[in-house]
Amino acid sequence: MSERKRILTGIRPTGALHLGHYAGALENWIRLQREYECYFLIADYQVSDYSDDISRVRESVWEVALDWLAVGLDPEGSHFVIESLVPEHAELTQWLGWFLPLGMLQRNPTLKAEMGEFGKKSVPVAFFNYPVMQVANILMPRAHLVPVGEDQLPHIELTREVARRFNRDFKEVFPEPEGLVGRVPRLVGIDGQAKMSKSLNNAIYLKDDADTVSQKVRAMFGGPPRAADEPGNPDENPILMYLEAFDPDVDEVANIREQYATKGIGNKVLKDRLNSVLDEMLEPIRDRRASYGSNMRRVRDALAAGSEAGRTIAIETMEMVHDALDLNYLEKY
Ligand code: ATP
Ligand code: MG
Repeated sequence: MSERKRILTGIRPTGALHLGHYAGALENWIRLQREYECYFLIADYQVSDYSDDISRVRESVWEVALDWLAVGLDPEGSHFVIESLVPEHAELTQWLGWFLPLGMLQRNPTLKAEMGEFGKKSVPVAFFNYPVMQVANILMPRAHLVPVGEDQLPHIELTREVARRFNRDFKEVFPEPEGLVGRVPRLVGIDGQAKMSKSLNNAIYLKDDADTVSQKVRAMFGGPPRAADEPGNPDENPILMYLEAFDPDVDEVANIREQYATKGIGNKVLKDRLNSVLDEMLEPIRDRRASYGSNMRRVRDALAAGSEAGRTIAIETMEMVHDALDLNYLEKY
């Protein structure tokens, strides 16, 4: 095995990827992909909230892989793993569930918030259990680092706890992984909601064409109502937040922020600027996506090879787990 430390991180196949994924997670993945051995997981076991729309999950596996390639993740150097092609994930989830008190899940703030989104629909058992599976995902390649958005930190805390207990009670198998949050820990939605999310329908997607981006920007929530020459609170205006997140001219954005807070700037001016910033940023991503999109066999090969590598390290880890738990029954006689 290579000497590099390992990264495990992932995305649920529930749709194409958006600006929140980019600034919250993908940027770090791209930056660290050579320094670490990376396992990038398409977490298809964890989308039981889409049980009434499995065809969307099936499609989204490709969407996610295309977006990864489009932003510049390199499947030659890292592993694109489809979770369910490594069924050891399900096995480890089951064993780890032995050692996790129910209360730890019931108190998990991310899980609580997401279960709230089901409204009157009932929550599948698998959904309640998904943080345990995330723990298993991270521990499977014995990862050292987990670059994610802020909403995932409680799951990493849980993973550290499980790793500590397992190592203490059985055998030293798992490194205690660190979380790494991206430049923008939680990007707000274009509607001003606290998180841009595939499920909340408030996202600008990396694959959106120029017209779609421009329509979305034009319709964006621009903070509490205010005249153009009236000062405003920059931290209440998502348009300004996006400029701070994505405009490469950091000095000019600082000026704009200052002017916004003291003299006021109209949202129309901010939206025009944001539109061209996003267009410039997304253009090369769209081009790369189109080029891979016309050769899906390459995408398929990347997923096949990555899943194979995921399986190899999983088998190795499960041997260590079986050994630590002393589950090799048939070796007794
Ligand atoms: P869903 O709504 O289906 O759960 P999601 O948009 O939350 O989708 P996930 O696949 O759950 O996407 O998350 C993938 C990664 O992207 C995680 O590390 C998550 O923290 C990060 N992420 C998602 N949305 C944002 C956001 N708005 N800001 C920062 N990071 C984000
Ligand atoms: Mg999510």
